[in-house]
Amino acid sequence: MKLNIELIRKKDTLNVIDFEYEIEEAVKGEFLGLLSADKINFVKIEGAVAQEHGFPVINYKICADFTADCARCSKETQQNIVFAGKKYLADKSEDKEDNDDYYRLENAGIVDLREYLKEFLALEVPLRYLCDEDCLGLCEKCGGDLNLGDCGCAKKEINPAFKVLENFFD
Ligand SMILES: [Zn+2]
Ligand SMILES: [Zn+2]
Repeated sequence: MKLNIELIRKKDTLNVIDFEYEIEEAVKGEFLGLLSADKINFVKIEGAVAQEHGFPVINYKICADFTADCARCSKETQQNIVFAGKKYLADKSEDKEDNDDYYRLENAGIVDLREYLKEFLALEVPLRYLCDEDCLGLCEKCGGDLNLGDCGCAKKEINPAFKVLENFFD
């Protein structure tokens, strides 16, 4: 979905463009890798483009709901990411200092919401997902889920370097 913000950029108008966009089934694949997700329920963005101090500005809220694997036990976990932000909009050709307050439009006067989603969602995705902060993970030996109880395997073997020390003190 693309927003034409030409009207907003005319400084004598006070237009507001409300928008709401949910990614289509066909593009969910493009977002799977970005989110490291297994299955996407929905990814959407909503908000408005308006004028502030004579410049076009976008206020947005992004919501993503999907499943991903726990980094420790591989169990499928439900994830819900919600965040909001605000950016001033400027064309690439405009001489604006490079800072995080601005979003540069690839095509003059056009906001491509799908690309916008990709850029800002990528910044909010956690490095890894956990089913629980205290997830115990899987046993290194038998692969059993330690969250379900002790699998009975012997605890970690003593590091050979420490064995030498043990003998040293005998
Ligand atoms: Zn887990
Ligand atoms: Zn085990």
